[in-house]
Amino acid sequence: MSEMLRVKDLHVYYDAIHAIKGVSFDVQEGEIVTLIGANGAGKTTILQAISGLLKPKEGEIDFLGENLLALPAHTIVRRGVAQVPEGRRIFSQLTVQENLEMGAFSRKDTRNFSKDYEMIFEHLPRLKERRKQMAGTLSGGEQQMLAIGRALMSKPKMLLLDEPSMGLSPILVQEIFHIIENVNKTGMTVLLVEQNAKMALKIASRAYVLETGKIAMSGDAGELAKDPKVQEAYLGG
Ligand code: ATP
Repeated sequence: MSEMLRVKDLHVYYDAIHAIKGVSFDVQEGEIVTLIGANGAGKTTILQAISGLLKPKEGEIDFLGENLLALPAHTIVRRGVAQVPEGRRIFSQLTVQENLEMGAFSRKDTRNFSKDYEMIFEHLPRLKERRKQMAGTLSGGEQQMLAIGRALMSKPKMLLLDEPSMGLSPILVQEIFHIIENVNKTGMTVLLVEQNAKMALKIASRAYVLETGKIAMSGDAGELAKDPKVQEAYLGG
């Protein structure tokens, strides 16, 4: 395995609030790595820093050997990093298909999407039947699927997923996580941020536990799921 992402000694502030306090982690090509932690631990902040939406005060973020901190957000998308934001943020006044097209805005080859749609509908068959439907009328789970599909349209090398389970029923959470696993099996590298530690630890190979802006624990996801401290704090005892 070769290294895809390396975050080193990252510090992020919101004015005087020191939200991320020296976080380091890495993601190897082909892995699902999860960053778990409670509300406000700083998970979203880290993803925003990777995608260039927030500028860290200190630290390094390297993607395939290139320093992302020197690049604007739109260039980071072009380099192959696609974020699926918390709360999906789909365009509700556009159809499913138009939303997917928006995901391809960063690409140069904007002529023929039919192959990409095929690939996306293979992973997300529910979207296929609904391609002409207004995105705002989709269910929460379908909107999450659309947000994933839209990110895949940029042909990323790595997906950053921000709490894909948020607001979904247990059955739908399983369905979404199954989709993430299947996308990963095609070779996609995934960084998954989750409060639902139970599900995240099931599909990830490695995990980092974030507590108030610092990595408190890290290691093999299966091992962490068995750790008494993790069980008590994140898996309901
Ligand atoms: P959640 O699961 O609730 O989204 P999180 O782990 O993603 O939580 P962040 O959203 O990254 O956490 O927030 C980390 C810390 O930074 C929190 O203490 C939060 O209150 C603070 N914070 C986040 N955004 C801002 C902001 N725009 N201005 C000030 N403080 C912020």
